[in-house]
Amino acid sequence: MLLSQDIKYLKGVGPMRAKALEKDLGIHTIEDLVTTYPYRYIDRSKIYAIRELREGMQYVQIKGKILYFETEGEGRKKRLKATFTDGVGVMELVWFSGLAYVRKRYKVGTEYIAWGIPQIYAGRWSVAHPELEEPQTNGAESVFMPYYHTTERLKRNNITSKTIEKLVKVALDELGNGIQETIPVYILKREKLCSRSQAISAIHRPMNFEQLEAARRRLKFEELFYIQLGLINYAKERQTRAVGQRFTKIGNTFNDFYKYHLPFNLTNAQKRVLHEIRADVGSGKQMNRLLQGDVGSGKTIVALMTMLIAIDNNKQVCLMAPTEILAEQHYEAICQLLDGMPVQTALLTSSVKGKRRKAILESLASGEINILIGTHAVIEDKVSFANLGLAVIDEQHRFGVAQRAKLWKKNPAPPHILIMTATPIPRTLAMTVYGDLNVSVLDELPPGRKPVLTKRVESHDRSRLFSLLENEIAHGHQVYYVFPLIKENEKMDLRDLENGYEGLCKQFPNRRIAYVHGRMSSEEKSEVMTRFANGQTDILVATTVIEVGVNVPNATVMVIEGAQRFGLSQLHQLRGRVGRNADQAYCFLVTPDKLSGDTRKRIDIMTMTNDGFKIAEEDLQIRGPGDLQGTMQSGILFNLKIANLVTDGKLLEEARRIAHEVISSDPHHNHSYNDVIWKQLKLQRRNDIDWEEIS
Ligand code: ADP
Ligand code: MG
Repeated sequence: MLLSQDIKYLKGVGPMRAKALEKDLGIHTIEDLVTTYPYRYIDRSKIYAIRELREGMQYVQIKGKILYFETEGEGRKKRLKATFTDGVGVMELVWFSGLAYVRKRYKVGTEYIAWGIPQIYAGRWSVAHPELEEPQTNGAESVFMPYYHTTERLKRNNITSKTIEKLVKVALDELGNGIQETIPVYILKREKLCSRSQAISAIHRPMNFEQLEAARRRLKFEELFYIQLGLINYAKERQTRAVGQRFTKIGNTFNDFYKYHLPFNLTNAQKRVLHEIRADVGSGKQMNRLLQGDVGSGKTIVALMTMLIAIDNNKQVCLMAPTEILAEQHYEAICQLLDGMPVQTALLTSSVKGKRRKAILESLASGEINILIGTHAVIEDKVSFANLGLAVIDEQHRFGVAQRAKLWKKNPAPPHILIMTATPIPRTLAMTVYGDLNVSVLDELPPGRKPVLTKRVESHDRSRLFSLLENEIAHGHQVYYVFPLIKENEKMDLRDLENGYEGLCKQFPNRRIAYVHGRMSSEEKSEVMTRFANGQTDILVATTVIEVGVNVPNATVMVIEGAQRFGLSQLHQLRGRVGRNADQAYCFLVTPDKLSGDTRKRIDIMTMTNDGFKIAEEDLQIRGPGDLQGTMQSGILFNLKIANLVTDGKLLEEARRIAHEVISSDPHHNHSYNDVIWKQLKLQRRNDIDWEEIS
């Protein structure tokens, strides 16, 4: 039998089951089947006596005999009971369906191992729908029983975890030594990895824990290695295909700004990152750099100074932000910083229409505009540049990869790309999701910042909160007051916001209070924001439209109602709106008095640390990488079978290092010992991954 053979020809499968396996588990071939790995194992070496059973136990095994069967109840309540004894204690096995089948299949007096979750029922131990097996005499059997994911539909088609276990067994027996190696022997040896054939057979039927671990390590390595190889290879091809623009000089624009307009001293981190960027844009290769920096670390100025380098080299630049509010803020901030300098800046969002839009598009195409700031509007097909040299993307987690790809096509030689994000993605994950994207980190806040004091407020305790707000406002500070608006178009949530607004107006009758939410027009929104930024509003009631990037340094308090409904990184983003100058800032997380364990844990993390990287790691641990905004594609695109991008970081780096080594030591595929790699890579390319989308 071959790995590539259709599953339906396997003994015990047939067309019906094949269809179900294909639909629900994506298993088409024998290879798909044997690389469908168990998600857990039960140690079957332990057999319990009935008197050892305790409440709360998970799956257990009890060896014994059925004394007699009886049926109870009528109609839908009818059930079959077997009284089961291990010689000392007595318990019950119960079935609610398939009664006739069970009654016929199992015999009174035969020794069985019953397997299931024990529960006390009417004063007696019982197991519902146990699995019954005759004890194995074959000493070579694995003691780990594998568990496979199934679905309701599969179960209805009589395909249980047990069925899959059996099918895998048949397939492995028939394959014999037909599982080809995919990793060259020299790498296996050096990395102390077992063979593919050993690994696949052990992962389904491990004899002991060490064997299982060795199998997992090997299979994870293989998976990560080929992902890295694909990414690196693709990035390399792209580099040779597309010649990057070379920014050779630092000229007047940059230097004048640095000397006369920069309102503060750069932090060391900002200087270091600027160096990294300068090296990139001067190298002749396209820059593709991710700039990570916690909220408030000063990414904007780094981006602006990068833009000035581009302008010094007669190139245009664009900056894309995820929301209109943010685009406007960037526009205003940058215009202010560049005040008095000969740089043309324009704002393009979907609310810029008619004549104004036309004028902007024209002066953009003629090269008159140096900096274009905007939202998605910037990448529309109608927008064309005379010579786009750099694209800066702010808070890219809101930006799809497809949109990024569009940017690249705005110039014959692709523009340099700088992506700024405050949602720190662990390095290993970033490498995997973005391939050869380089990463710069602003790991230093501007001087004089105090960490934001974060406290949980139980909802019955709002009065203390209100007096604190009053005090802050009396000192001339401003307050953000956020209500959760999970889906921006839900009327219910909007009512929460309106009620909250009215409540605050009553609470603070002498204060100036305004609100802003995503369903307001962009003119309305920006009017409210501008008033707040100018200090004409004391309390801004808002939804998460203010989550990203908004910069009003005089605001010192962030209150978040229903904090338990937000994700960690979202809370961190919101908190980042305050603490933007030397004043002490506060963040209050208002939650119900009672919280579940997990929620409690998340809120506690927020009160304990201000470190966005730590928070992101925790977030990743709690929710898994698939949920991390913007890296959503990681889970989907790669469809990992066994490796975990978060917990297997070390192995991932190892795999990446070796992938680099293979590619650089054998660039023309001359070494026959690597043949197996290129063959496998080709297969993988054909099969599943569209590299264009991710690199
Ligand atoms: P973020 O990284 O969150 O986008 P910003 O670029 O908005 O941060 O910067 C936050 C605030 O810090 C802004 O008010 C900015 O002017 C200020 N800032 C940035 N760099 C420095 C610095 N080196 N020294 C003092 N203030 C700085
Ligand atoms: Mg920012």
